[in-house]
Amino acid sequence: MRTLAELTTMRLGGPAGEYEVTRSTEDLVALIREADAVGKPVLVMGGGSNLVIGDQGFEGLVVQVTTSGLTVHREFVTVAAGVEWDTVVEASLDAGLAGLEPLSGIPGSTGGTPVQNVGAYGALTSDLLRRLTVYDRTTGAIDQWLPSRCGFGSHRQSVFKHTDRYVVLDVTFQLTRSTRSRPITYAGLADRLGVLPGATAPTSEVRQAVLAVRRERGMILDAGDHDTWSVGSFFINPVLTSVPDKARDCPQYPDPAGTKLSAAWLIDHAGFSRGYGRDRGRGAVALSSKHALAVTNRGTATTTEVMEFAAHIREGVEQTFDIRLGPECDLVNCKFG
Ligand SMILES: Cc1cc2nc3c(=O)[nH]c(=O)nc-3n(C[C@H](O)[C@H](O)[C@H](O)COP(=O)(O)OP(=O)(O)OC[C@H]3O[C@@H](n4cnc5c(N)ncnc54)[C@H](O)[C@@H]3O)c2cc1C
Repeated sequence: MRTLAELTTMRLGGPAGEYEVTRSTEDLVALIREADAVGKPVLVMGGGSNLVIGDQGFEGLVVQVTTSGLTVHREFVTVAAGVEWDTVVEASLDAGLAGLEPLSGIPGSTGGTPVQNVGAYGALTSDLLRRLTVYDRTTGAIDQWLPSRCGFGSHRQSVFKHTDRYVVLDVTFQLTRSTRSRPITYAGLADRLGVLPGATAPTSEVRQAVLAVRRERGMILDAGDHDTWSVGSFFINPVLTSVPDKARDCPQYPDPAGTKLSAAWLIDHAGFSRGYGRDRGRGAVALSSKHALAVTNRGTATTTEVMEFAAHIREGVEQTFDIRLGPECDLVNCKFG
């Protein structure tokens, strides 16, 4: 029996009822079709880097997508869902295509990137996505989708989130033939590269700078560093239609659904600084010592302990700012608060 803790970056989750690895798209669809025909619950996963699974595990079929295939045609890169994301970034730069460099070092599979519209350092998956192949478990159809169908808009939202109806089979990105990056909008990254915001830089240098910054923040997976036993940002930046007076000093950004606030700032200013939690309970769950948004497993945590810790942080932020934080990650058979 497979324990899901072995398959998730937070190393959490009890046993899988059944576990299958699918290396071809045809097998992936066939397996899910068979399970759906007999009403068996299915959990589709890639790298397990955005999943927190309950201690009781998942009673149905867990399908890990490891399909392969990456083709470059002019400025278009088409990638199977199971390909590890960072190899796509590297391969696109090696092919002389610019665009993905700010998304270097993000763990997980390519099929996972449209789910929460993965983004970092001023770039979003949706900026570069041109087409997806999607299997619809309700209708049984396999269709080519344009990004306009994906429900991207407000921060980290998509039609793939909070539903298990759709399975992403492959994605196509449209990049730019260049060895120079797109304009660097993220001030911290521009600073690191010694350029002004809005300037460009060689894509290889941008990739190295992004990897270096991410490593410093515990955002590159490293089995020996518990600060990286996480799902990246555990809490989502809240988007509000009106910002409570108490939170007026929090960094704010425009969002299609209102104003986006920095969850890291709110957590920090509610009294939970980096590393918080080491002296709490068994000390098995704590905020990363490098990043206030990352809830980390210090080695022996259970999902129950993580949920209790997350509820404690949420309560502290709510009491201080009247803002209720939600998860950025996908919670399966577990919840906090
Ligand atoms: C150290 C660290 C740093 C991170 N940094 C970032 C960051 O900078 N920016 C960012 O946006 N995210 C970041 N993340 C979060 C995570 O890496 C991304 O969300 C990633 O895209 C998840 O991909 P995955 O394959 O691991 O998905 P999983 O964790 O396996 O699955 C996540 C969700 O996607 C669904 N899913 C997975 N594959 C498919 C598919 N083919 N079709 C349909 N649904 C699918 C699953 O059912 C689940 O609901 C970070 C995580 C970690 C651990």
